[in-house]
Amino acid sequence: MTGRLNGKTALVTSAAQGIGKASALALAQEGAKVWATDIREDLLKELSKEHASISTLVLDVLKPESIAAAATKTGNIDVLFNCSGYVHAGTILDAEDKDWDFSFDLNVKSHFHMIKAYLPGMLAKGGASIINMASVCSSVRGLPNRMAYGASKAAVIGLTKSVAADFVTKGVRCNCICPGTVDTPSLHDRMRAQGDYEKARAAFVARQPMGRLAQADEIAALVTYLASDESAFVTGQAMVIDGGLSI
Ligand code: NAD
Repeated sequence: MTGRLNGKTALVTSAAQGIGKASALALAQEGAKVWATDIREDLLKELSKEHASISTLVLDVLKPESIAAAATKTGNIDVLFNCSGYVHAGTILDAEDKDWDFSFDLNVKSHFHMIKAYLPGMLAKGGASIINMASVCSSVRGLPNRMAYGASKAAVIGLTKSVAADFVTKGVRCNCICPGTVDTPSLHDRMRAQGDYEKARAAFVARQPMGRLAQADEIAALVTYLASDESAFVTGQAMVIDGGLSI
């Protein structure tokens, strides 16, 4: 264990599977005390057995009152990783108001509420690192059939830069991560939803210039870097980690 995060407390939202889970484990392996939160109590129970430094908490990030209760329970933290988000598939012609609203509620507004709940404690401590999950599908580049998703992830980049600018002199850094396609359970769901899993997987792989998907651990490595003091001079950045998708 290199212990880059010894003495720090981190909280990860949507940590029961995929990138959130890989990040919770990576942060714990680097020495952080980690609060892994999600709505999937069953999966959180399994995760808590994987590392002694991981505590779990059921947290629905769509509920501001639950976020307030979580902030009271966990107390001040040093690292907040807002990983929550989901993909609405379709063009603007396929999207209804409810799709737009849900994309923004889960992908952006949840981050807004989490930051508002935890920032006062971070300022009181005199420093922290906030990491938001965006995507390469955002203001970085457009992808087909991702209208509501891309718009919401571009908003995450705007939120990130605004928070970074407002608190740059107060020791609070705020960055976001823009992955390409990552091999996670929700990606498998999206492949299955297309009817022919193998064909859908081949299309996702073909979209990646490196000819492969990212593994969640590769994204978690960037999360631990942004969480640690190694990235102390980095704020307000949209860090692209996409296997060349945006070249
Ligand atoms: P995933 O979709 O496999 O898992 C999502 C998790 O979110 C689940 O554990 C689920 O229970 C949880 N969740 C759902 N609703 C919730 C709520 N209301 N409150 C709290 N948790 C809730 O995860 P993933 O594919 O690793 O994606 C994680 C993040 O990474 C998302 O923001 C996604 O947009 C982003 N991302 C993913 C990819 C990819 O290719 N997988 C690429 C770029 C960005």
